[in-house]
This record gives sequence, structure tokens and C-alpha cells, in this order.
Amino acid sequence: MSFADLGLIPELQKAVAEAGYTEPTPIQRQAIPIVIAGNDVLGGAQTGTGKTAGFTLPLLHRLARHASTSTSPARHQTRALILAPTRELAMQVFESVKTYSKYVPLRATCIYGGVDMNAQIQELRRGIEIVIATPGRLLDHVQQKTINLSQVEMLVLDEADRMLDMGFIPDIKRILGLLPASRQSLLFSATFSDEIKKLADQMLKNPQLIEV
Ligand code: AMP
Repeated sequence: MSFADLGLIPELQKAVAEAGYTEPTPIQRQAIPIVIAGNDVLGGAQTGTGKTAGFTLPLLHRLARHASTSTSPARHQTRALILAPTRELAMQVFESVKTYSKYVPLRATCIYGGVDMNAQIQELRRGIEIVIATPGRLLDHVQQKTINLSQVEMLVLDEADRMLDMGFIPDIKRILGLLPASRQSLLFSATFSDEIKKLADQMLKNPQLIEV
């Protein structure tokens, strides 16, 4: 089983090969075709399983199929939102997205709290398709109208159980209310408490279950 067998576009296969990956991990084998097909996903996975590539590769695949080659910021709206509980995790996801998106015309940025907002605002003004964010800082940008979430097609909630532990669920619910109802959503969590299940019910439509 290769990345080509999973149906990824050649630009992504090339980036993955350059990253030194020879074959997909079990979660990638499960997740990639499901996400490419446009389904919502409820994923049970720890870090270290290749989960990040499992959601970022098919996300890039879907966005790249309808990417704008224009350099105008107006043609680069936020189409994918990836939420992570901490700055470190957001940065890790951002690094993965940068590695895999080398050959596709999509722009990504990472926004998190504890630093000045101005550099992030400048970056967002360039027109960014993929925003990786921690919830609180994302809401700061929403409040300041420096980000527009009305065109988001794909949402990923990574490490939902840690979001819960850190008290982010109210922020997540506010963010959900700002996104288009017709979107594809993926939720990953290492554990599934009743609260996570409730959040999944609210966020996902007919999710496919993935467990590794
Ligand atoms: P993650 O579980 O997403 O944090 O990934 C764990 C590590 O596995 C990261 O350092 C990835 O670069 C690496 N990785 C992800 N997918 C593969 C793969 N198919 N082959 C080899 N390494 C991989």
C-alpha cells in the first residue's frame, strides 16, 4: 500500500516521498480515503501514529483541487481551520502542513496567543487558505475582524480531550457558530468522555469512525 494507492494528488505524493515516508501508517490508510471522499471523521488516535499527516494530506488534497493560482489576497480566503490546544501543537501541525504543501499553491499560517497580534494580522492580510490556531487567539482575531471564517470548508479539531481539559470547549462552541453549516469536519481525540461525545454530536455529520 502506497500513498499513490490512497488517491493523493502527485504534488502531495512527491512532498511525502521527500519527507522520507515510504508507506502510510494505519491511521493514514484509514483516514486519507475517507477525508478525500468528503466525509466527516471521528478519530481516536494518540500522537506518534502519523495522525497529523492523516488529516493534513487529504485536507491539502481537497483544497488543492480547487486552488486559486492568483496572487491576489482576495482570491485566498480562509478555507480550512485547524484548531489545536497549545502553541506547541499548533506549531507542529503548521510544520507538517508546510512540509506537505511544498508543491501546491496554498498558503498556511499559525496563530496563537502570548505574542503580539500585529505580525499575525499582517500575515492574515496576505490571504491565507489554511489557518492553524489556538482557540482563544483565533477568537481575538474574530473580534478584531482580522479574520473571516465565512468561507471555511474544512474544520479539524485536534486533541479534543486536551481542549476539554484546558477549558476551551466554550471557545470551540463559539467558533463552531461562526463557521458555515455546510462544511467537512474532523475531530481527533485520544479519549472519549461524554463531553467529547456531545461535542462530536454537535460538530460532525454522519462521521466515519477511525480508531488505531
Ligand atoms: P504524528 O503522530 O502526526 O505526530 O506523527 C509522528 C511522526 O511520524 C512525525 O514525526 C511524522 O513526521 C512521522 N510520520 C508520519 N507519517 C509517516 C509515514 N507514513 N512514514 C514515516 N514517518 C511518518
